[in-house]
Amino acid sequence: MHVIDTLHRPMRDLRISITDRCNLRCTYCMPRKIFNENHGFLPRAELLSFEEIERLAKLFIQLGAQKIRLTGGEPLLRRSVEHLIESLAKLRTREGNPVEVALTTNAVLLSQKAQALKDAGLSRITVSLDGLTEKTFRRMSDSDVSVKTVLDGIAAAQRVGFVHIKVNMVVKRGVNDHEIIPMANHFRNSGIVLRFIEFMDVGGTNGWRMDEVVPAREILEQIDSRYSLVQIGPNYAGEVAERWRYTDGGGEIGVIASVTQAFCRECTRARISTDGKFYTCLFAVSGENLRDPLRQGTTDMALAGLIADCWERRSDRYSELRHAATKMPGKKIEMSYIGG
Ligand code: SAM
Repeated sequence: MHVIDTLHRPMRDLRISITDRCNLRCTYCMPRKIFNENHGFLPRAELLSFEEIERLAKLFIQLGAQKIRLTGGEPLLRRSVEHLIESLAKLRTREGNPVEVALTTNAVLLSQKAQALKDAGLSRITVSLDGLTEKTFRRMSDSDVSVKTVLDGIAAAQRVGFVHIKVNMVVKRGVNDHEIIPMANHFRNSGIVLRFIEFMDVGGTNGWRMDEVVPAREILEQIDSRYSLVQIGPNYAGEVAERWRYTDGGGEIGVIASVTQAFCRECTRARISTDGKFYTCLFAVSGENLRDPLRQGTTDMALAGLIADCWERRSDRYSELRHAATKMPGKKIEMSYIGG
């Protein structure tokens, strides 16, 4: 059965947060003043095990999911993540096609892990990198990690044969917007697709303000004034990034305008948090606990029913309503817990 929600959106993508821990403290995601030694990260027993993740993934695939993205927190911090990838990469969609398994990472550990990830059958890697100078990178990531570590990680991924590599840059006005052009320069002609993401109001700890959002239009204008760009069509229906290509053949970039041009109508993403709650929106305030029934011996059929019910009730379109909403009716969950 392929499930459809109240706005006729199918379930196509499954994002799984496999840890709520991270080795960076990006100010827009896990600000250090909140995510410090006093923060209650999830104890190990609360995390879904690899077997539990695989079992849930199979159920989501039965209901229509075609792609799985592992995220977090920092997914490469989860020990033996390649074993999980290996089992997920063997799954088949209802139509019998391989399930595409992707990973979003800050690449701090990518040099060490790239070969194992490739061998395990990972299809795609997206690396987050918000600037090329140490000063900007440190300001965004609030860490002592050097840019070189991330760039070496990307190079290692290329070396072991990953071809679908993307780099995501979150742009904050006055913090790293001066690095838009240097980043475009760096990744032109590299085969890597650089995507610019508007700073979003996820969670409740990053002090989000609309005036710190650099609208995707403005980013495109800046780049287009340097290198001419032409828009290209989406790779598939519901793709969140708007794609543009350099007219001189320098490759492709993307913009993800989640704030200024919300794309809720096309959102086909289901999300599982680190502790096994099912969310139908990145901006949700509550999720359906799947871990307890899973651990209490609920059958696959009953679990699939629970997931299908949630999806069929789904009516969320937070980003489209963002500007109309005066106050959220609860506390939004954090990105590191639900997975970006
Ligand atoms: N640690 C991994 C990484 O850095 O890619 C995966 C998790 S991280 C939460 C996933 C993505 O979410 C990153 O590209 C990050 O930049 C993005 N992100 C986090 N908070 C954001 C925000 N407030 N606005 C826009 N993007 C955000």
